[in-house]
Amino acid sequence: MNKKAGIIGSGIGGLALSIRLAKAGYDVTVFEKNSYPGGKLSELHLNQYRFDKGPSLLTMPTLIDELTELVGYNLPFEYHKLDYITHYFYPDGTQLQASSDKTRFAEEIHTKLKEKKETVINYLKQNEFYFNTTEELFLKQSLHQLKNFLTMKTLKGIIYSPFLGLFNTMHKQNTATFSNPKTTQLFNRYATYNGSNPYKAPALMNMISHLEFNLGAYIPAKGMHQITEHLVALAIASGVNIHYDEHVKHLQLSSSNRIEGLISNGKNYSFDIIASDIDIHALYNQLLPLHFKPKRLLKQEKSTSAYVFYWGINKEFKELGLHNILFSDDYKNEFDHLFTKSYPCHDPTIYINISSKYCKKDAPVGSENWFVMINVPHNKQPTIEYAQDLRKNVISKINSMLKTNIEGHIEEEAILDPILIERQTSSFGGSIYGNSSNNKFAAFLRHANYSSKIKGLYLVGGSVHPGGGIPLCLWSAKIANQLIIYREKK
Ligand SMILES: Cc1cc2nc3c(=O)[nH]c(=O)nc-3n(C[C@H](O)[C@H](O)[C@H](O)COP(=O)(O)OP(=O)(O)OC[C@H]3O[C@@H](n4cnc5c(N)ncnc54)[C@H](O)[C@@H]3O)c2cc1C
Repeated sequence: MNKKAGIIGSGIGGLALSIRLAKAGYDVTVFEKNSYPGGKLSELHLNQYRFDKGPSLLTMPTLIDELTELVGYNLPFEYHKLDYITHYFYPDGTQLQASSDKTRFAEEIHTKLKEKKETVINYLKQNEFYFNTTEELFLKQSLHQLKNFLTMKTLKGIIYSPFLGLFNTMHKQNTATFSNPKTTQLFNRYATYNGSNPYKAPALMNMISHLEFNLGAYIPAKGMHQITEHLVALAIASGVNIHYDEHVKHLQLSSSNRIEGLISNGKNYSFDIIASDIDIHALYNQLLPLHFKPKRLLKQEKSTSAYVFYWGINKEFKELGLHNILFSDDYKNEFDHLFTKSYPCHDPTIYINISSKYCKKDAPVGSENWFVMINVPHNKQPTIEYAQDLRKNVISKINSMLKTNIEGHIEEEAILDPILIERQTSSFGGSIYGNSSNNKFAAFLRHANYSSKIKGLYLVGGSVHPGGGIPLCLWSAKIANQLIIYREKK
């Protein structure tokens, strides 16, 4: 008889692990508290407009191809590489377009920001070096198994550690590299890709831009939600059962602290192993209230949250692309607010994603679906106090930078805030990427992909190793699967 695996949560990490475990011969059941799959990677319809609710940028799509191939599925996951990644707008009127072609990008930075082309090219090479040297050590394997430190690739990462910018911050390195503060701001922004602070995060994190410029930025043919749909299809084709509207309330353990099962909707289910794709705070505080808690890991500083306006806009803006950034005037002040205050600053950077630029069906003809996101502190307090202020500030900034009257064009509106993110996905205070990466030990202060105290309990998703964001969650599933096969064979 096959072993039985229960997975809590149908976020991207949970779905990816369900596919891998089913292919490894487990009978897999996924329990999802919502009536829909995908967690943060879900979608929203407002009359004729469709929005991706969370992620808008796809990097490393080959991690999804790997799952398609594993299942031998005949419907490939279709996606396109972007020619232009992001349109940048600065408060003084400077504009630039980040091409995915490194030479063109360097030329644009040279023309608009007066940096030397070689400086940009060499900077991207350095970030590639950071990534290639550390991916094996920090991203692709468990950091909690001694045997993993004895491979050549890992030893290389350790030997090169003095050259990996661990003792510098992203901001300091970027300021030392570039002559124009606008270029520094552009590259500092990559800290937000995992909800961190460029004035604190180690320079090693500059490697995030390598994912976009060297490996490429992509969009699925039907928008980001296609990732969730594709993974659900792969899971079903692999024999996984997905139960919706099933809020897991407790894990059941034997007297020797071995997983026995779980309780959902008042019913007991027995399992040989259980994997959690939910935030570690929810796992330990709600599902295991009477058991050991990894207090040090739970206390780590959290990543930022987001405030999103989903706007159906009855006009087309030719000057905007798929990804657009309207920078703030004082980036340092913005991050000070994000990590020390419970509300965002008066002049936040605004990110506008318009998937209808590529996926024409996402908005009616002549209209656009605007996903307008502001990074905000993770927060368990009601955001009502600053919500109105934020909307006013965002509208006035868009109006002045794009020379428009945007409010007159909004015909549909919905919002997402830290409280809704927590309610919909269980992420602590709505933090998007689990712990922040604001210190050089951050990689070692994420929860392992298994529990060292509870036998048969495994962990995936954005709050555990190697971290948040689609590629890392997919890696967490790969690592957890390897651990399960290795540890459960006895
Ligand atoms: C606004 C926003 C923008 C983002 N932008 C990007 C981006 O551009 N690129 C990128 O790569 N990443 C981005 N991310 C991050 C990315 O979405 C996440 O890192 C990733 O989707 C998290 O997946 P996960 O596996 O951790 O599961 P989650 O998405 O956190 O899902 C967890 C699931 O578990 C379920 N659950 C919780 N508790 C229980 C329970 N007790 N019983 C049953 N089910 C339960 C929840 O309902 C949820 O479905 C963004 C996120 C947000 C919110």
